[in-house]
Amino acid sequence: MANKIIKTHFSDREMDCHCGCGKTVSPELLVRLEALRSMIGCPLSVTSGARCETHNRESGGKPGSWHLKGLAVDISCVDSEFRGEIIRLAGLLGFNGIGVAKTFVHLDLRSVGERCCFLYD
Ligand SMILES: [Zn+2]
Repeated sequence: MANKIIKTHFSDREMDCHCGCGKTVSPELLVRLEALRSMIGCPLSVTSGARCETHNRESGGKPGSWHLKGLAVDISCVDSEFRGEIIRLAGLLGFNGIGVAKTFVHLDLRSVGERCCFLYD
């Protein structure tokens, strides 16, 4: 689904809701994610893109999650240097919501006024 919008390095399987409902991410998110990949210069593994309400609930996502709007991705990351680089570049690319967890970095396209960088428990 995602790749019907724009050709990127990311697979539909990564970007679309994992339940198979067909919900996908916004073109704006794809464009910025592709830019991030290009700037970092190596593959990014997306563990979660778009989510429908049902899948978000079942996967333990927050109510009102940006994944529901197709405006968020989680990128697999366990290396601190790589994590720092993702955070630095994502900030430059307009990802105003950045969440840091032990094994992934969450990026979303909330507005500038809502900009924040938060930690997962
Ligand atoms: Zn779904």
